[in-house]
Amino acid sequence: MKVPFIDIARYETGFQQRWLDKVASMSAAAQFIGGSEVNTLEDRLKSALDVRHAVGCANGTDALQLGLRALGVGAGDVVLVPNATFWATFEAVVNVGGVPVTVDIDLMDGGIDHQAFEEAVKAERPKAAVVAHLYGWGTSHIRALRALCLQHDVQLLEDGAQCFGVTYQGESLFKGARIATTSFYPAKVLGAAGDAGAVFTDDAALAERARRLGNHGRTAHYGYGDVGWNSRLDALQAAFLNLSMNYIDARIQSRRRSAEEYRRRLPATGLTPMNPPAGYVENGYCNVCLVSDTSKKQRLEALLKARSIGFGNIYPGAMSVQEGAAKYLKKHYGGTNAERLSKTVLNLPLFAYMKPEELDYVITAVQDAVMNGAAE
Ligand SMILES: *Cc1c(COP(=O)(O)O)cnc(C)c1O
Repeated sequence: MKVPFIDIARYETGFQQRWLDKVASMSAAAQFIGGSEVNTLEDRLKSALDVRHAVGCANGTDALQLGLRALGVGAGDVVLVPNATFWATFEAVVNVGGVPVTVDIDLMDGGIDHQAFEEAVKAERPKAAVVAHLYGWGTSHIRALRALCLQHDVQLLEDGAQCFGVTYQGESLFKGARIATTSFYPAKVLGAAGDAGAVFTDDAALAERARRLGNHGRTAHYGYGDVGWNSRLDALQAAFLNLSMNYIDARIQSRRRSAEEYRRRLPATGLTPMNPPAGYVENGYCNVCLVSDTSKKQRLEALLKARSIGFGNIYPGAMSVQEGAAKYLKKHYGGTNAERLSKTVLNLPLFAYMKPEELDYVITAVQDAVMNGAAE
């Protein structure tokens, strides 16, 4: 048996045929940029995530850059970023001319360290802050975080590339964000057939700016109100996403069931997955285990490899220690939890439509590794 870390080709019956039919009809009509698929997707995203405006764009990294630019972040503006996230979060700040300041994270949920964040807000007086909702849930301090930013006039952008479908206290996590983004990279919870992303906000002016910037700053076909770039959402990607939206609830339910199975059965092996904070219903994006004994972690990973079980280390390096960060990073606030996370994190396979026997196989492997003294 083999269990990949992620298998995104487990399409529902008939899905692939519907997609191929779509490609054929859209090709026949040469419908490639904009049009009804893009509009329909934006409408569906708005209602699924409970936001007033959705602006499709080329990818999740561009979504961050569009969001930051729409917020007015530009040359020399200080922007707080979490020290544990995907590199794009950091990169986006630099690409729009901002000056990144990293803030440590909380090992309880992988979100921003709220105390360090508050300290950084007061000391740096940043123009903006980006937080990332990693692993399929958000920070336990989400309400306080939004309130703090409002109070100190810090423009908060929430990187929701990993939290599509997550709810907090019964509502979409995207609801109530000043501005948020997502990525439709194929391996994300809602994945495209290539690159795509979106920006979400309740603020009409912000949405309008993001849309304009992603279409060359256009105010008319040959009139330019700003310097933007081309980050339009491809119509074929939108069509694939519209088809996927028909199944997204089933996919998320399936992911959640597997995540729950790990939660129920792993602790007996000595490996306890990280939990979403109270009030969250996760989307099952990721399994997260922290194994702090390095040699045990290596032995566990070796056994997984030997049994052809894929695993991840999301993410294996903090932002502040990346070679590419050195010449941009202004300062860091808080401790070294991000580095600790990088060294200890282990992600077991988790994706939509995992089979019970695959879960059994993975859990048994972890159990066997523990019996050989390989896990905590
Ligand atoms: C995937 C991801 C991105 C980048 O999205 P792309 O669509 O690959 O550009 C940004 N932030 C986080 C947290 C991500 O997981």
